Amino acid sequence: MVINLDIPDPAEWAVRYAVSGLAVLPLHSAPDGRCTCGHDCGSPGKHPLTSHGKDDASCDLTQVTTWWARWPWANVGIRPRSG
Ligand SMILES: [Zn+2]
Repeated sequence: MVINLDIPDPAEWAVRYAVSGLAVLPLHSAPDGRCTCGHDCGSPGKHPLTSHGKDDASCDLTQVTTWWARWPWANVGIRPRSG
C-alpha cells in the first residue's frame, strides 16, 4: 500500500519525508488528467515510476534526490512503516 500525496513541490517534500525517516518513492503524475506513463492505466498519477514499485521506497537521501532530479514532476509516495 502506498499513500499518494498531492502536494505542490514534490521534490522538496520527498526530501523532507526521507530526512524524517519515511521511505518514499516517485509516482507517476497526471497534470492534465492524463498519466505520465502514457498508457490508459487504471490509476493515473498514482502508480510508481520505479520497476519494483513500493519495494523501491527509500529514505536514502542520495537515492531520493536522484529520483526527483530525474523526474521533478513525480508525485511522492510514502511507504508506511510496517507493523
Ligand atoms: Zn499510469
